[in-house]
Amino acid sequence: MANPSRGPIAISGQVGITGVFGDPVKHSMSPAMHNAAYAALGMDRVYLAFHVTPQHLPAALRSIPALGILGVNLTVPHKEAAARMLKHLSAEAKLLRAVNCIINDRGRMRGDNTDARGLERDLRALGVDLKSQLVIVVGAGGAAAAAILACTRTGAMRIAIANRTHTRAVNLARRFSSLRVHLDARGLDLLTDSAILSDAALVLNATSMGLTTGTFAPLDYAATSSKCFFYDAIYRAEPTPFLREAIALGRATADGAGMLINQGELAFELFNHVAPPDGVMGRALLARLGRA
Ligand code: NDP
Repeated sequence: MANPSRGPIAISGQVGITGVFGDPVKHSMSPAMHNAAYAALGMDRVYLAFHVTPQHLPAALRSIPALGILGVNLTVPHKEAAARMLKHLSAEAKLLRAVNCIINDRGRMRGDNTDARGLERDLRALGVDLKSQLVIVVGAGGAAAAAILACTRTGAMRIAIANRTHTRAVNLARRFSSLRVHLDARGLDLLTDSAILSDAALVLNATSMGLTTGTFAPLDYAATSSKCFFYDAIYRAEPTPFLREAIALGRATADGAGMLINQGELAFELFNHVAPPDGVMGRALLARLGRA
């Protein structure tokens, strides 16, 4: 609903447009983050949320060069489909078989993926030391693929993938068999295997458990070492179901707000050829989450 107290929005005739395609998209935090950076930089640009259904994705992609849109992010459920539709993909998007941003490079659409780089930057900022360590990644979808790449780059020696559908975990481990990391594929039973849990330096939730469901799978938190870090790709105002018990046990934890901020900052730079001012996108997200 319109908010009359906000007054007129100043948009010039030559405003540069960026945005996000998703279905659903109205709850996306990206417009708040990107528009805060435009305001801080005084740029004549705007970032909009476009509700694009899977059926309309091909037409929406064609509209990017047609309308001179500078770049778009892609969110659920378009990341994999867009990777199949675009001719030009970065090496990272090819590896992840998913695109989370498209850059309009003078009419040429280039698909990239900043999710793994975003998570890697967040893990480093949090001081999570994975050198020669064991990581447990829960999930086998797009976020899990990004997590495997990020953890490998931060030095993990072994990654155990735990997923509800075991065959998806096996397929993901096969896809990344060329990486310099040892990959095991298991079912969710791994989360009660105290021998593995006690060795883990990081347990990372890359499923939607806790978002779509009110609870997380059974996990033997007490079997983990006191130095084990718990990271949830999901972000929200309060601690997620996955993190609650880890927090109660005094383990170090973080949710996916940092990953979202970092992937957004990287995409901003790709779209606008200028880095966002330090902290602006993060503060905008935390304010939207009610955590500022
Ligand atoms: P996908 O749809 O690609 O994968 C979903 C994963 O969740 C699968 O491993 C699936 O298991 C598992 N899953 C779903 N429901 C259940 C359940 N009830 N019980 C057990 N496992 C379940 O999603 P993504 O990988 O794209 O996203 C996963 C999560 O990561 C989302 O919650 C998303 O919000 C978050 N995310 C956060 C980002 C950030 O920037 N912070 C970026 C990207 C994602 P199965 O294979 O058995 O179906």
